[in-house]
Amino acid sequence: MVSRIAEEETEQQMKEAVERAKLAVLGRPPNPSETVDIVVTFDGTWAKRGFTSNFGVGVVMSADTGEVLDRKVLSKICLECCHRTGAYKGKEDYREWWDKHKEECSEKFYWVKSCYGNRSC
Ligand SMILES: [Zn+2]
Repeated sequence: MVSRIAEEETEQQMKEAVERAKLAVLGRPPNPSETVDIVVTFDGTWAKRGFTSNFGVGVVMSADTGEVLDRKVLSKICLECCHRTGAYKGKEDYREWWDKHKEECSEKFYWVKSCYGNRSC
């Protein structure tokens, strides 16, 4: 519950930051359908050096305002996959579950192609 509220608030703040970045570039409020080129910087980090960490984050910032416009948290671990792989692998419904889950999982976790059948958590 708290994480969902925090996520919604973060999304709203980033939308407002995009509008401020557009305003900074144009010097006036943008029209609702207007596309504005915004100069951004990108940086990222992992929890530990050397990409050995399971978690990392990338951040897009406006070069004009310095505000965060977007961010992406990356994880090498999908807890649902870890649980299913350990407890259910080899059971009849595992393949059915995996077929439903893999698309959602691959959107969140970049390692997923090597996950099925090859990863132990
Ligand atoms: Zn998964």
